[in-house]
Amino acid sequence: MKIGFIGLGVMGKPMAKHLVEAGHDVVVYNRSRPSMDELAATGAVAADNLAQVGQTDIVITMLPDSPDVEAVLFHEEGVASTLQPGAVVIDCSTISPQAAGVIGEQLAAAQVDFVDAPVSGGEAGAVNGALAIMMGGDEETVARAQDVLGVFAAAMAHVGPIGSGQLVKAANQMLVAGNIALVAEALSLLQRTDVDVPAAVDVLNGGLASSQVLKAKGPKMLARDFTPGFRLDLHYKDLLIALAACEQAGVAVPIAGMTTQLVQAMRAAGDGGQDHGALIKAVERLSGIPPHKT
Ligand code: NAD
Repeated sequence: MKIGFIGLGVMGKPMAKHLVEAGHDVVVYNRSRPSMDELAATGAVAADNLAQVGQTDIVITMLPDSPDVEAVLFHEEGVASTLQPGAVVIDCSTISPQAAGVIGEQLAAAQVDFVDAPVSGGEAGAVNGALAIMMGGDEETVARAQDVLGVFAAAMAHVGPIGSGQLVKAANQMLVAGNIALVAEALSLLQRTDVDVPAAVDVLNGGLASSQVLKAKGPKMLARDFTPGFRLDLHYKDLLIALAACEQAGVAVPIAGMTTQLVQAMRAAGDGGQDHGALIKAVERLSGIPPHKT
């Protein structure tokens, strides 16, 4: 299978590597060059331009936000300028469900199929080929997408028509952000008492309070390692998508709203480029307490 892959960042680079390792013929493109060279060294073809990526059977995009996906596809000399009828575009980025719908319609006009397939599992999930992938699209196209995405997935589900994957991802991002905020508050408490914090985290992970967030982000928060990972700026984008979806569905989400404001406070303080685990700093700032490393 000839596969085009656009967006070789924190997530896209390891995902594209899995495709190469699985024996696919992979053509990669990224705005900056070094990650393209890295992929080329593993056997991928580094494309000179987007039109070259369109000369493939399946194109996967892993870009920051809706305007980026729209630009690479529909720019005058973008991917869509060379895509052939019957090709499939799979967008693994997290974008708005509405944008996914519009992209699907535009591609359908050129007889190109589309699946929105946002992922969860973070950088570790991408590197280990263990992402959870939520897919929106028609049955047949999703089945085609599944064959390809399986090389970096631990779990995949077809959750409805185009845009549905993004709606599930919005719910995912509410759950992750709210969980991070509470882990930040709980760890901030524990660090300022006489308890043995690592022992406390261990026992918490043995009970109902256990979560992937506590396991993956807790140790990094305690060590104050805020290297992204998942940037607060990107999580803010996702929370705005989630809040808009909730508004449209008529659902009040006070916890997600408050968490969004905490993330915004971090961005306003210049920390938007840090990992979302840095939310522990927002707790410290609100409390007027100095940072604490365990
Ligand atoms: P990133 O910023 O690390 O990577 C994005 C890549 O896209 C960069 O390499 C950038 O150079 C490239 N790019 C941007 N615009 C481009 C363009 N017009 N043409 C070509 N290349 C372009 O972002 P990421 O962390 O890999 O996230 C990508 C998407 O996946 C986002 O939508 C994010 O919300 C989502 N996501 C991220 C994580 C995570 O943990 N990082 C987890 C799940 C989902």
